[in-house]
Amino acid sequence: MQKWSNFIGGREAGPVGGEWLDVFEPATGQVYAQIPQSSSADVELAVEAAQKAAPAWMAASPDVRSRILMRIADLIELRLDMLAALESQDNGKPVWLAREVDIPRAAANFRFFASAATQFASESHHLPGVTGYTVRQPIGLVACISPWNLPLYLFTWKIAPALAAGNVVIGKPSEVTPATAAALGAICSEAGLPPGVLNIVHGLGAEVGAAIIAHPLVKAISFTGGTQTGAAIAAAAAPKFKKLSLELGGKNPVIIFEDADYPRMLDTTLRAAFSNQGQICLCGSRILIHKPIYEKFKADFVTRVNKLKVGDPALPDSRIGAVVSDQHFHKILNHLDIARQEGATVLCGGHPLHIDGRCESGWFLAPTVLEGLSNTCRTNQEEIFGPVVTLQPFEDEAEALTLANDVPYGLAATIWTSNVSRAHRVADRVEAGIVWVNCWMVRDLRTPFGGVKASGVGREGGWEAMRFFTETKSVTIAWGEE
Ligand code: NAD
Repeated sequence: MQKWSNFIGGREAGPVGGEWLDVFEPATGQVYAQIPQSSSADVELAVEAAQKAAPAWMAASPDVRSRILMRIADLIELRLDMLAALESQDNGKPVWLAREVDIPRAAANFRFFASAATQFASESHHLPGVTGYTVRQPIGLVACISPWNLPLYLFTWKIAPALAAGNVVIGKPSEVTPATAAALGAICSEAGLPPGVLNIVHGLGAEVGAAIIAHPLVKAISFTGGTQTGAAIAAAAAPKFKKLSLELGGKNPVIIFEDADYPRMLDTTLRAAFSNQGQICLCGSRILIHKPIYEKFKADFVTRVNKLKVGDPALPDSRIGAVVSDQHFHKILNHLDIARQEGATVLCGGHPLHIDGRCESGWFLAPTVLEGLSNTCRTNQEEIFGPVVTLQPFEDEAEALTLANDVPYGLAATIWTSNVSRAHRVADRVEAGIVWVNCWMVRDLRTPFGGVKASGVGREGGWEAMRFFTETKSVTIAWGEE
């Protein structure tokens, strides 16, 4: 049995309390590793290590930070095979997906923010006889807490800008998928990151996560995860005036007009629905279709979904792997029961899948397409976060927007049309932090990333992230004659 430790002060450290948590392989349903069930005592050690490292790292020149982050990126790329295999085993995602998307993006996160460190600048303002300038200083100790769906991808999306901006970090990966985060510590040491600059503490959110949030020396929290958890973190952090960035759930509409580029739309909508078993916060789970093409789309889409191969994530031809945990598997099945009670017609899927061989006890679900539900029912209002989508027809642009916006969430939206005015109009009116027109999940790391309504507060990416991870000070100097 593998045992992965915390990474504190540049060294591996077991849990102070001696308690360990099991880690499961979703494809087999079996325990394959253990991580520390850390407590506030482990957080205290991480805080001490970080405080020790803070003065030198905060004072280091951007160039020094940049070079180290570049080396981390290089080492992640060098270990692509190992990290992709680990991510797939830990999360259940197809290994080709981890190799093509997750791990390259983790390297890109470090490379992008390594450059940002050397490019980040601030403003000056001038009045007659008066010069003002803005200083953006590292905050000090910050927390980065990430979810299980894109483990290394999202963990590094937070850690890289936090380090680039000169902060010391306590990172907490999801207890459900800790493997690649556990591998990151050694990579950072090898790249020359000084001990204590990044500390990785494993364990349960409600225990060690809450202890990190509550620690008085943790000044800012960057969190990605569920909306309910985000609310709990906001409630704990607000009275202490900690800086907060919350990237939360989604229930994203895909709005398809009759004038869409049909083949391209069909391919992309399939990918947007079921990539990573539908477990991406940006997945398009509510597909809204212009009435004139509803029946054609339904037939073509269901045909394509039925051809998706669900299977062992280690095999190259599996398009869909296992969902992440037993608990999540049952949560999705429960949502399917609710959908049936609400009167859904199941066009395909709607049930678990048995895979013979080593995966016979794994958590596999058939990709599911539902229709016949109102927009106000639970299935169309609540985040399911699995391989389940609904189809709804709309009459015109106004109805499409009403359906798209009538949910608590507002993370992402996709619009398919060849009418440029309509594209701009709908993009302008749809309630979402991220809008894609005639594409999905095209990511430019310079663009602001985040949602509105129950999908979160704040933005990540580019300068938004560098600004979040710095404190702004305005200095004004009067130099003219009295
Ligand atoms: P989660 O909220 O259960 O857990 C996320 C992280 O928070 C984990 O590391 C967990 O241990 C920790 N945590 C839990 N309770 C905590 C507490 N009280 N204090 C501090 N930390 C705590 O989310 P999840 O189930 O891991 O992830 C799925 C959710 O993440 C979905 O809702 C999905 O939409 C969302 N998500 C959002 C984005 C985005 O960018 N908006 C990206 C990916 C995933």
